[in-house]
Amino acid sequence: MKKPILSLVALTLLTVLTLAAEAKPIKLLIVDGQNNHNWRAMTPWMKTQFEATKMFSVDVSTTPQRTRIPGGLNKEQRAKAIQAANQLNAKQWKEWRPAFDKYDVIVSNYNGQEWPAAVKADFEKYMKNGGRFVVVHAADNSFPNWLEYNKMIGLGGWGGRTEKHGPYVYYNEEGKLVRDTRKGRGGSHGPQHEFTIEIRNGDHPVTQGMPAKWKHGRDELYDSLRGPAVNMEVLATAWSPKSKRHEPMMMVINYGNGLIFHTPMGHENGVALQCVGFITTLNRACEWLATGKVSTKLPGNFPTADKVSVLKKK
Ligand SMILES: [Zn+2]
Repeated sequence: MKKPILSLVALTLLTVLTLAAEAKPIKLLIVDGQNNHNWRAMTPWMKTQFEATKMFSVDVSTTPQRTRIPGGLNKEQRAKAIQAANQLNAKQWKEWRPAFDKYDVIVSNYNGQEWPAAVKADFEKYMKNGGRFVVVHAADNSFPNWLEYNKMIGLGGWGGRTEKHGPYVYYNEEGKLVRDTRKGRGGSHGPQHEFTIEIRNGDHPVTQGMPAKWKHGRDELYDSLRGPAVNMEVLATAWSPKSKRHEPMMMVINYGNGLIFHTPMGHENGVALQCVGFITTLNRACEWLATGKVSTKLPGNFPTADKVSVLKKK
């Protein structure tokens, strides 16, 4: 009778170990610190939504910020103040070096100054070695001249992006994905409005079970993004009244052994970020990036084809 008892012990141990492994949270790092959006409010909101799933532990790494130069200075005082601010900024950047490889997924809420060369090199290495990265809204405005970053995000906007950065990518009326190499600037949007997210691949873990069309809370609909768009799949689009194209709203990109999820949704702290569709998309993207699957069903209050669903702030 010894054998069965031993097996039972082994089995119990295995179960305990498996449960322990499953209970281990996915480690997220949100990077912020500069953005033409209110990152100080956006990051805590996203952090709260991640933590509410009980799946993630979330750290935040905040970059240095530019010092504001006060008004009312004469020319000489102003020059001095700028020099002092630049010196302080350079010193602070030297001290900012996040340990990317301690995290399962990096989430960018950053749109600002270039990172130091050493940090860029760290990040490229992390990604090439199998890192996981989520790009939210204006994070795709960042670093127009950092080629590897542009490969990671697939498409970007503003910052002088043109045909030199890559094609426009969108779905046409026939449901065909177009890579449009015509000349022109990258990045644009019209007035904020509620718009419909159209799922183009409903078999992907992130989109699985989502209605084929769902209404997103009032947001900025980015159009005419451009970039290398290599090894990129578009999972969902939205029709832009401005560009008259079906613009990518969810993208997955392979970069080396790394994997990226990019959504241009999420303008500003408010309805766009409180949209249950947006929150679900972000939570699922992070789980999928870290584990290769999505374990949660859609929440009961997920938006429908004609009804937005916005989470109230407590
Ligand atoms: Zn915006």
